[in-house]
Amino acid sequence: MCTENSRPSIAALLLQWFSRSARALPWRQDYDPYKVLVSEFMLQQTQVETVLPYFEKWMALYPDLTSLAKADEGSVLKLWEGLGYYSRCRNLLSAARAMVREGFSVPPADALSRYPGIGPYTAGAIASIAYNLPVPAVDGNTERVMARLFDLEETAGSSALKRLAAEKVLRTMPQETPRAFNQALMELGALVCLPPPKNPSCGDCPLAEVCAARMRGVQSLRPLPKPRPLLEKIQAWGVLCFIDGLCLLRRRPSKGLWAGFWEIPWFPRQTENSRADVTAWGKETGFQCLSCREVGTARFSFTNHQVTAWFVTCEATPLPPLTEKIRAGEWGLHSIPTLHSLTLPAPSRKFLKLMTSIE
Ligand code: SF4
Repeated sequence: MCTENSRPSIAALLLQWFSRSARALPWRQDYDPYKVLVSEFMLQQTQVETVLPYFEKWMALYPDLTSLAKADEGSVLKLWEGLGYYSRCRNLLSAARAMVREGFSVPPADALSRYPGIGPYTAGAIASIAYNLPVPAVDGNTERVMARLFDLEETAGSSALKRLAAEKVLRTMPQETPRAFNQALMELGALVCLPPPKNPSCGDCPLAEVCAARMRGVQSLRPLPKPRPLLEKIQAWGVLCFIDGLCLLRRRPSKGLWAGFWEIPWFPRQTENSRADVTAWGKETGFQCLSCREVGTARFSFTNHQVTAWFVTCEATPLPPLTEKIRAGEWGLHSIPTLHSLTLPAPSRKFLKLMTSIE
C-alpha cells in the first residue's frame, strides 16, 4: 500500500518503467524549450497521435521563437486548422511575440505564467520538462494516476484534487529528475492507468504493488467522476448561399468559440421544408432565396450542444440590409478558392466536405 515510506520506491519504479517505455516523441529528442512550449500548447485537450503531424509541420515552418513571432495570425491559424481550440494557437503566437519583444530567444524559465495561455499546468510542464526544475505539472493523466495511487476520494478536474495531486507529486518527485518524473506520470496515465470508459491496465503497471486504490479494489472509481452536463440536441440548417457566384459567409463574434472566424452560417431548423426555412431566415439576414437544394447532413458538437445540421446550397439576391452588414464586416462574399484557403470552424469544413463529395 502507498505510504510516506513507499515514496522512494514509487519514484524508482516509475522512472525505471519510463526509461523502458517512454514513447519517442520529437520534443523529447533534445528538450529544446521552444519545442516543449509548442508541444504543450498543442497537447492541451489533444492526444499525442493527433498532435504529431501538426508539430512536424509547425517546426518546419516556424523552427524557433523568432520565426513564430514574425508570423501572421492567418498563416498560423491555417496550420492549426483541424487541431481545434483555436484560442491556444492565438495565445501561443501572442506569447511568442511577447517573449521576443522582451528580448528572449527561448521561453524564460521563470514567470512563464505571465504569458497568454500559460496556466499553472503548462508553466509546470515547461519548467520541468524543458529546464528540469522541480515543480509539479498536473494534467488529467497525472491527476488520475495520483488519485488512484494514493486513493484520493476527490472529483476529477476539481481544484481540491489538483491541489492534493500537486502536493503528492512534489513530495514524491526526486529533486534531480523532475523532467523524467513528471513525464513518467503523464505517460503512465496515457498508456497504462487509463481513463474511463477503459479500465486501468493494473497488470502492466510498475506501481501495482504500491497502489492504494488497486489494493482496495476501487481503482476504476478514482478519481470520482464529474457530474455529466446535459447535452442539448439541436436541429439546424447549414446554408451555403451563392450571390453572383460568390459564397455568403458569416463572421463569428470576436470572443468565444471560433472567435473571429468566417463560417458557413447555420440556424435552427423550424420545419422540414428547407425552402420555407431558408426563405424566412434570408429575410432576416438580408437576401431573397431564389432556389434551394438539400445536399446532406452533418453532425457536430460544441460545449454541451449536439447539432444535427441539414446542409443546403441556395442561389440568392442580396437585399439592402445585407449590403450594410457586408460593409460592417459581419458578413462577407468569398470565392470558392478563397473559401478553401480560409481557416474554417469544424462545422463549416464538414459542410464543405459534403459539397465536394457531390461535385
Ligand atoms: S495499479 Fe492500476 S490504478 Fe494503480 S496506478 Fe497502476 S494502473 Fe493505475
